[in-house]
Amino acid sequence: MKPPPFAYHAPRDLGEALETLAGVDGKVLAGGQSLIPMLNMRLAAPEHLVDINRLASLAVLEAGPAGVTVGALARHAQVGRAAAHPLLGQALRLVAHPVIRNRGTVVGSLVHADPAAELPAVLAVLDGSVRLARHGAGERDVPAREFFLGPMESAVRPGELAVSAFFPALPARSGTAFHEVARRHGDYALAGVCAVVTLDEDLRVAAARAACVGVGPVPVVADVTGACGRRPADTGDWADAARAVQDVTEPEGDVHASAAYRRHLVGVLAARALAEAARTAARSAAQRDAQRDAQSAAQRDARAAGEGDRERAR
Ligand SMILES: Cc1cc2nc3c(=O)[nH]c(=O)nc-3n(C[C@H](O)[C@H](O)[C@H](O)COP(=O)(O)OP(=O)(O)OC[C@H]3O[C@@H](n4cnc5c(N)ncnc54)[C@H](O)[C@@H]3O)c2cc1C
Repeated sequence: MKPPPFAYHAPRDLGEALETLAGVDGKVLAGGQSLIPMLNMRLAAPEHLVDINRLASLAVLEAGPAGVTVGALARHAQVGRAAAHPLLGQALRLVAHPVIRNRGTVVGSLVHADPAAELPAVLAVLDGSVRLARHGAGERDVPAREFFLGPMESAVRPGELAVSAFFPALPARSGTAFHEVARRHGDYALAGVCAVVTLDEDLRVAAARAACVGVGPVPVVADVTGACGRRPADTGDWADAARAVQDVTEPEGDVHASAAYRRHLVGVLAARALAEAARTAARSAAQRDAQRDAQSAAQRDARAAGEGDRERAR
């Protein structure tokens, strides 16, 4: 089908884009990987489309000690290639197909707020945020827990543009994983779970969080630190922690899967994701220790060499 008629705007900078958005009843066009199908299926009929693809300043991807900032024009493929955040990379491998990832944007996926999408769950489990801008009103940062309001409903108000999303860095000795079940690779998942596990110095679980997709109107987040009870990272039994994740979900049945099957999937996937995240955390802790030992050995050798030089010079 063809889309309903709309007026097309292609602003050249952020100020012009915000001014245009403030003056019309319209929608932002980013990668178009959700919006264009919705227009073609007549599920959306905005009078104006404000195309942000000329705003090169929004194609930023900045990784710093505090986390990763993803601009509104950073495409899935670009962010995945940059490997700026382990959980983003794991999630992006599960999003759609290469052609869609070349065009679709991370921020567009967050604003679209599909409860079956992977990236909202990543933002939610990491406690990230989205920065919104409006003409004449500056910017506001909305935390993930307030950003996803319902199926296909985010906190972006008419006239606002999401300029970037912030994904916080992981604490030391942390690991992540994302597991899902889809009928075919690249399809939306029947259910999915991502997890972040942080270990203490004895390699026991100090914090564990999971977020689920496809089993609620928004990403469902579970803090299962209590259910993990300082277990060792290499433990084989994650059943009670997985049950704690299951307990906060309220899956619904549809033509693709019954509610009971989705609930079962969440349990299996949560156990898998938590176990893998804990293993990865233990590996990263071992690597850090090895690096630290190598650095102190190098410093010791350099000091010894310096003392030897001074001795010879005397
Ligand atoms: C065949 C197919 C398979 C797919 N499979 C998956 C999948 O497995 N997992 C998954 O998560 N997604 C999947 N998708 C969806 C798609 O990848 C994302 O929803 C998409 O990338 C969203 O980003 P976009 O830039 O294309 O947004 P657009 O389509 O341009 O916009 C989506 C919505 O967000 C709004 N918007 C976009 N950017 C902004 C902004 N900066 N400020 C304010 N509003 C904004 C638009 O107005 C619109 O309402 C699939 C899509 C297709 C076509």
